[in-house]
Amino acid sequence: MATGNINVSVENIFPLIKKFLYSDHEIFLRELISNATDATLKLKHLTAIGEAGGVEYGNPRIEVKIDKENKTLHVIDQGVGMTKEEVEKYINEVAFSGAEEFLEKYKDSAKDSGIIGHFGLGFYSAFMVANKVEILTKSYKDEPAAHWVCEGTTEFTLEDADKKEHGTEIILHINEDDKEFLEEARIRELLTKYNKFMPIPIKFGTREETLPLPEDAPEDAKPETKTVDDIINNPNPAWTKQPNELEDKDYKEFYRELYPMQFEEPLFHIHLNVDYPFNLTGILYFPKLTGNMEIQRDKIQLYQNQVFVTDNVEGIVPEFLTMLRGVIDSPDIPLNVSRSYLQADSNVKKIASYISRKVADKLKSLFNNNREDFEKKWNDIKIVIEYGMLSEDKFFEKAQKFALYPTVDNKYLTYEELEEKIKDNQTDKDGNMVILYASNQDAQHSYIEAAKAKGYEVLLLDSPIVPHLLQKLESEKEKISFVRVDADNVDNLIKKDEEKISKLSDEEKEKLKTDFESVVPKEKYTVQLEAMDSDAAPLIITQPEFMRRMKEMQQTGGGGMFGMGNMPEMYNLVVNTNHPLISDILNTKTAKKQERLIKQSLDLARLSQNLLKGEELTAFIKRSFDMVK
Ligand code: ADP
Ligand code: MG
Repeated sequence: MATGNINVSVENIFPLIKKFLYSDHEIFLRELISNATDATLKLKHLTAIGEAGGVEYGNPRIEVKIDKENKTLHVIDQGVGMTKEEVEKYINEVAFSGAEEFLEKYKDSAKDSGIIGHFGLGFYSAFMVANKVEILTKSYKDEPAAHWVCEGTTEFTLEDADKKEHGTEIILHINEDDKEFLEEARIRELLTKYNKFMPIPIKFGTREETLPLPEDAPEDAKPETKTVDDIINNPNPAWTKQPNELEDKDYKEFYRELYPMQFEEPLFHIHLNVDYPFNLTGILYFPKLTGNMEIQRDKIQLYQNQVFVTDNVEGIVPEFLTMLRGVIDSPDIPLNVSRSYLQADSNVKKIASYISRKVADKLKSLFNNNREDFEKKWNDIKIVIEYGMLSEDKFFEKAQKFALYPTVDNKYLTYEELEEKIKDNQTDKDGNMVILYASNQDAQHSYIEAAKAKGYEVLLLDSPIVPHLLQKLESEKEKISFVRVDADNVDNLIKKDEEKISKLSDEEKEKLKTDFESVVPKEKYTVQLEAMDSDAAPLIITQPEFMRRMKEMQQTGGGGMFGMGNMPEMYNLVVNTNHPLISDILNTKTAKKQERLIKQSLDLARLSQNLLKGEELTAFIKRSFDMVK
């Protein structure tokens, strides 16, 4: 029997402490199963290249077992195992990675073997939950088995043992404080979280399986059940396969496997698959994102060689795509670094831009291959696309080919098509193309109708980030501006050269203005006289595009207009000087009656803009009933 001291290289102790002090205790199981997986994959590799000394690979599996009585947790594998010398080398030298050494030795052939370890620290995480750890291991080489025991100090014992089959059993004597790890439910939870898609089958207990009834079984026959090993993982998840091996239904099935609580089907998927200049596989799904943006539980999951790492992909996946779901798997993402360092990493940057390029390509091909279907999906995906256009110039460029601008008549136009359609009728006297839009078809109904009557096309843009997107489009494209239909009276929305003739003289106009201003609250409305068609509305309330948009941008964050969010609501009250009612108001002799007419008309204008509410609305209705009487 050998005894000795564990050799901790001082320069390596710091990352060790850091890694364990700051991470969850629960990761120990992931680490041990990763080692068991590595040991099995190494054997697979050695048998494949004929260097396993006649040992067969077979159908190895990993087993996790709880022994409540002895308060131990066991992780058992059928992998390469270790000789005594190897235990000395790999285990006793903390921060010496056997995984890294293996990859170094078999550089060319083992590059894609899927081996997980490389820091040489994982094993020691066992001591976060155990006061004593045993290793019982037998190498695939023809050498005696070894038994290593350590009680969490730098002392250990190492002696021969009589294990016959190659492989390793790690035995953790669980601390009193960590008793939770002796509970089946807790271990199952961890296995499902971290190991659900690991490449070697993992057995955890048994389960009852219902056998199918034979064809000729009587009607009241009870199906028989059989006890089978409970394999908790799917060793071949969809993302590890080639896209041409998968059908649409496989992608949908995998979605359900990833998010068992998610009943809504994804809209479409994107299969990621690169190995140069970095290695990345994965499948992203576009979920339906309509309605209120519920708190997102189901997020993109990050794996490394099929081991779950985190569902915080911030910094790795471009921000506008973090609303998607799915998995990405890349061994090339440094993980034990801070997020800000991560974002500066050049591999990570390349990964992020690769992902956004792939997403753009996919959207473009969906658009090209089945435009009708793409249009149907538009409202569910627009948030992501619009957000992407705003936040990434490259994506903005690419999106020109598939971003859609829906009209109030349910047509979906690309920017180019829109431009073609409106440039003649909607270019103003200064040569600016004015794109009209509405944000709410019901609330802005009368304005939309007025614009349509002039032959204008009205878009329906209702995402919360629209004001920002419009700003972006206006700065990217030449001589265009977006104007909401209720920003001004229809004749002023797109200023053409035609002068409208007013029925009123300058003097009359002067008087009319004073009359209105004496009744209408000044702090809220700017009175503006316009010579419009006599059958247009007598009074219209509008809110200048600039002012409204700045306020909206404040509300959704950004915009940079200091203080705008707190500015009082200001409107223009457009008075149509050609309308008979306005002439009546002007010619009303008694001041009292005139005031009543102005108030009532103002309330009607407010009503049509959805601005009349509460007490004022009640008073208005009462007054109107009195008038009808
Ligand atoms: P890493 O996995 O990063 O190399 P670990 O601390 O997790 O570091 O493990 C150290 C080394 O101990 C491994 O590289 C491997 O050589 C050896 N080892 C650990 N667990 C096993 C096991 N179950 N079977 C065989 N070797 C193992
Ligand atoms: Mg490891």
